Amino acid sequence: MKKIIIYFIINMKKITIAIDGYSSCGKSTMAKDLAREVGYIYIDSGAMYRAVTLYCLENGLFTPEGIHVAQLEEAMSNIQISFQLNPDTQRPMTFLNGKNVEDSIRTMEVSSHVSPVAALPFVREAMVKLQQEMGKAKGIVMDGRDIGTVVFPDAELKIFVVASAEIRAQRRYDELKAKGQEASFEEILANVKERDHIDQNRAISPLRQAEDALLLDNSHLTIEQQKEWLAAEFQKAIHG
Ligand code: C5P
Repeated sequence: MKKIIIYFIINMKKITIAIDGYSSCGKSTMAKDLAREVGYIYIDSGAMYRAVTLYCLENGLFTPEGIHVAQLEEAMSNIQISFQLNPDTQRPMTFLNGKNVEDSIRTMEVSSHVSPVAALPFVREAMVKLQQEMGKAKGIVMDGRDIGTVVFPDAELKIFVVASAEIRAQRRYDELKAKGQEASFEEILANVKERDHIDQNRAISPLRQAEDALLLDNSHLTIEQQKEWLAAEFQKAIHG
């Protein structure tokens, strides 16, 4: 039976799936699971902005006054970002200039510096170009803030995920704790709200729901219920 399902998936038309939404609302969990189940590539676009931010932190491009914008613009050609599948978990790992940075891009330090970096036009331009390259052959699930509006405006399936800031902060807190990282709920909540504000109000590609995106409020859904909902929408999209 499984073989038959896999055969149908391989022979079906490949589509592009764009999943956008607020910070820490579980987009990547649903995107990764769907990609694995249907044999699509999964790309976490937030990881790319995080990797650029890590580069800035490691190279002294942040000052108390803000980002050294001109230096970062010059350094962009030295920033190579790629993904590789972890053979054990089958989850993608982010590489910055050949180094696995999957864990170091998820710290609170990176989270609290990423949104101003992601608001810089030349950073967005470089990342969007890379993302569009990665999605050329379709068969991709990408999550982020502007995937359905800017990166893949023609995506066949677009989802916009929302949940309350408190619920999102609690999820992030649980995630960091589970990894053994120090975390304060209040600090995370403040960071989630601050990133929402910057992401929604920046001049270029602000976070917003594409007109043709389906809205999913997962505040009170389990991961399993969310997975089922997405699987049903995927079926509708590939048969539509
Ligand atoms: O998805 P994640 O929370 O890891 O993304 C980190 C940050 O990167 C976001 O807060 C946002 O500022 C930025 N981002 C973006 N556009 C995307 C994905 C992420 O501006 N497509």
